[in-house]
Amino acid sequence: MAELGGQAAPARKAAPAAPRPAPRALAADPVGPETRLRDVGGIAEERARGLARLGCQTVADLLRALPRRYEDQRERVAIRDLIAGRSATVDAQVVQLRARPARARRLTVLEGAVADGTGEVRVVWFNQRYLAARLAPGTRVLLHGPVVLDRSGLLQLRNPQIETGEASGHQVGILTPIYHETQGVTSRWLRFRLPPLLPLADRLPDPLPEAVRDEEGLLPLGRAIRLAHFPESPAARDAARERLAFDEVFLVQLAALRARQRRQATPGVRIPLEAQIAREFVAALPFHLTADQRVAAFEILRDMDRPQPMSRLLQGDVGTGKTVVAALAIRMAVQAGYQAVLMAPTELLVRQHLATLRQLLAPSAIAPRLLLGSTPARQRREVLGGLAGGHDAVVVGTHALLEDQVTFNRLGLCVVDEQHRFGVAQRLRLREKAARMPDVLTMTATPIPRSLQLTVFGDLECSRIRTPPPGRRPVATRIVEPEGRDGAYAFIRAEVERGRQGYVICPLIEAGEPQAARAAVDEFERLRRLVFPDLRLTLLHGRLTPREKQERMARFAAGADQLLVATSIVEVGVDVPNATCMLVEGAGRFGLAQLHQFRGRIGRGADASSCLLLAEPDLDERARARLEALVAHDSGFELAELDLRLRGSGDPYGVRQHGLPEMRVASLSDLVLQERARRAAERVLARDPELRDPRLRRALVDYNTVFELD
Ligand code: ADP
Ligand code: MG
Repeated sequence: MAELGGQAAPARKAAPAAPRPAPRALAADPVGPETRLRDVGGIAEERARGLARLGCQTVADLLRALPRRYEDQRERVAIRDLIAGRSATVDAQVVQLRARPARARRLTVLEGAVADGTGEVRVVWFNQRYLAARLAPGTRVLLHGPVVLDRSGLLQLRNPQIETGEASGHQVGILTPIYHETQGVTSRWLRFRLPPLLPLADRLPDPLPEAVRDEEGLLPLGRAIRLAHFPESPAARDAARERLAFDEVFLVQLAALRARQRRQATPGVRIPLEAQIAREFVAALPFHLTADQRVAAFEILRDMDRPQPMSRLLQGDVGTGKTVVAALAIRMAVQAGYQAVLMAPTELLVRQHLATLRQLLAPSAIAPRLLLGSTPARQRREVLGGLAGGHDAVVVGTHALLEDQVTFNRLGLCVVDEQHRFGVAQRLRLREKAARMPDVLTMTATPIPRSLQLTVFGDLECSRIRTPPPGRRPVATRIVEPEGRDGAYAFIRAEVERGRQGYVICPLIEAGEPQAARAAVDEFERLRRLVFPDLRLTLLHGRLTPREKQERMARFAAGADQLLVATSIVEVGVDVPNATCMLVEGAGRFGLAQLHQFRGRIGRGADASSCLLLAEPDLDERARARLEALVAHDSGFELAELDLRLRGSGDPYGVRQHGLPEMRVASLSDLVLQERARRAAERVLARDPELRDPRLRRALVDYNTVFELD
């Protein structure tokens, strides 16, 4: 009877209904997990294209495309107990059914009644005329659908899903799986088409070693997949999803552990820690290093002093003084006769770093060079020559540094300042540029909760700077309700009239940069004409050329403009200590990490700063909780932990941008699972240190983790 359901979906057009699965094709060319879906009998070309849009090319992909959710239709309701306004599952017999044309052309209505021992209820379908032939009076049907009152005040089941006779257990009256859908591929069709393929789930290679499965009490893969599609009970569904979630986390953990092990076995450079040099560097600074900076610097220098390549992550909020620490590492590399690079994601940031490094390295008579995509040819040749010949020791630049023409004489240290993980491909390119794998230090202002550290950065060593330099005042943060907008504008105006500067962050626009830029232009015009006509405003958005951005930032930094209006996409990478106020429009739509990063742009001078979070009128509870967290906490690390708790599921705080593979089942905030998977991965590596198990290897490659295995 499942076939009924299968034909229901495509029946709208007179076009051919879904062809039957062709037993001939199946026999001639047996379908296996690797079979392409369009070669499976019964899956037409067009439908195969729809499936491809959902990420499914092969049978195995389809088996792994799990339901998005389940609709619990298990409870049968006696017809006598039906209530209008609810959906219900009814087990009944057809009393009578007839088709009639409706007023609207080309619409047919099939209507009639079904009955169980307790009563009778009317039922109606639109445009499913073909059902009539199959639903002779007396036929047993299982129906699930909304119960509504019709015009005459009678109860009616409207367009219910249906199974007849011997229920297949795959459509109606179960924990019904609801899938991601696309044109031509409905949940209903999937529920019909999947069951015959489910036995193939047992032929998928199970990446989990049997020992792990036993130790962890997890289901075999095939059974987990079958149950995830058609669970017998909520408990079975949970067990199935637990198993599949475990795989995802386990593979990441295993890859991370393996990558770390591999790196430690790769020959690197050794940059001796010269205490005297460190002391001189620190003594020349105009301030004392904080305790956190000292610890981080020591951890880095100690790593560099080892023959294995360093791969360390330095985490700390904007303004906590990471660059100084990096500068010391660079100083030490140069002392040892190596070259060092500092790479940042935007030209703005690169220029800022260059200025900082020039200052910090001047006492050591080291002159860093600059390399950007926009560097003029002549200058570029000069820089390339200096690096290849080895007479330039330090270069600061964008990803232009990774281009083939850039070669080094003796590269020893690479510092990467970016929010995104320094990818495998980039690392490999770096390795090509050096005789030995250089030490790598990555700096990030996105704190990752400690509990997630092992998942996200399982292959890296981590240092953290928690406490900002003394004398910095926390930014006073307030939530402004929509009616308080004028007051917020008045506050900003007062700051500016005192000689301060400020930022206005435009609301988040999901549609992408072109729309965001347009919206920002509109907002900018509005503010300039109607709100602050007497102030000097400037606008930054992602559609400006790097040159325009740089010019506008420079004007703002120099104090020529008083208010900077920017889209969220724009990295406001300039340190303007005179900027003391910020207004974030539609604050509830931003994530906690992003809001915290915006806020890091102010509070950089000695003066008190204020951040006003303008709440949108329909602010929901979670969004409000995020804003309140921001009001209560200054530390990115605390906010990251809090975000993890606020979410419960989904991708926490800035994790996605670090390039982890997509977790389709697992929730990164499931810490118990993380911990279990980590321990299991450690056990596996202890038993198989080279990771020779071919199934595991293959799974890791397929899973495409960001970690290097070999
Ligand atoms: P980050 O890279 O973490 O955003 P920076 O290294 O750019 O931070 O430092 C921000 C500002 O704080 C710089 O102006 C820097 O000179 C200053 N700074 C860094 N460390 C200290 C310190 N220990 N005491 C006082 N000021 C510091
Ligand atoms: Mg910095």
